[in-house]
Amino acid sequence: MADMKLSQPRSARTINTARVLGCLRTGENLSKAEIARVLELNKVSTGEIVDDLISEGLVAEAGKMESANGRRPTCLSIVSDARYVLSVDIGRRFCTVALCNLLSEPLHFERIPLNKDAASVEAFCAEIIKSCIRVVRLADRSRIIGAGISAGGKVSADGRTIVSSPYLPWKNLPIADAFEKVLDIRTVARNSTYALVDAERYAAYGTGLLSSDEPIIYIEWGDSVNMALVCGDRVFGGANDFAHLKVAQTGLCSCGRIGCLEANVSAWALSGNRDVHLKDLWNGMEEPVFDAMAKAIDMAVRITGSDKVVIGGEGATITDYCLRELQKKCPGMTIERSMLGEKANIMAAAEVALDKWVYLTSVLEKMKGLL
Ligand SMILES: [Zn+2]
Repeated sequence: MADMKLSQPRSARTINTARVLGCLRTGENLSKAEIARVLELNKVSTGEIVDDLISEGLVAEAGKMESANGRRPTCLSIVSDARYVLSVDIGRRFCTVALCNLLSEPLHFERIPLNKDAASVEAFCAEIIKSCIRVVRLADRSRIIGAGISAGGKVSADGRTIVSSPYLPWKNLPIADAFEKVLDIRTVARNSTYALVDAERYAAYGTGLLSSDEPIIYIEWGDSVNMALVCGDRVFGGANDFAHLKVAQTGLCSCGRIGCLEANVSAWALSGNRDVHLKDLWNGMEEPVFDAMAKAIDMAVRITGSDKVVIGGEGATITDYCLRELQKKCPGMTIERSMLGEKANIMAAAEVALDKWVYLTSVLEKMKGLL
């Protein structure tokens, strides 16, 4: 945000400001004193940080709280629409562009088909950026603090380049540069599976679905199928090989082989390449789909030793019935649904930017590891 200078090395004040915001994001109706206690910060600095955040319009006093001894401290909350991030999810066939607030709630979004036959990488990016320009117009420009991009495939560690993607004909796509040049909004990119796992973990939603020291298999189920292994705050995977496990005797895959997971369970395959979100396919889903997914899960279990699976991405919309059908075919496993709902991918891309410029959750986690 404008006043939160993220110079290197980050000042203690910057770090603590991010911690206070993170605390308010996941906690409800906390007072200054409670924030100080939760974060083990002294009351004076907590008070100064909160006062600054209030004067910047990021935090508001949300009324008085009840307390036993009659004193009524003021509870605080994030002003969710004080700032926005641009969320860009580059999928296999479509790109979703959204404007999200500080709680990663989308205010407006649009979905455009991707033109992978574009004559050049510039022409390909131009369509996405045009959509961004339309969406950005909906907010006061000074309130937009950055853009987060999620994309399938390998994204460079600095978040500036899509190194390779199974869905794109180009290598080393300088996506952050392209965005910053045209939109004048600082930009960061992340692999979509990692972004989904981050969103699930950081936004918390009071569930702690992925906060366990036991390894958890996270499956991004959508236009393709990707897997990550989550162990505490470490995440492995994000490769695209999971999609091409052989799980059936039929189904021509995008890779040219027969029987891949992707060719049997992805929204792309099940819809016959129509523009359909997985949420609209559960009702007609037939047994071979669950058989194929169960087989892939079984392989993942054998390799990782985990017995817990979280279904995410568009798969966060899986119905109770389908979850039960899948569960039946995976005895001994616990299969759960992501808490992110049908906007999972939009929220994940928003989280990439929110993590980088507001909550600094991934940085704080790394620091915690060093203490
Ligand atoms: Zn394949």
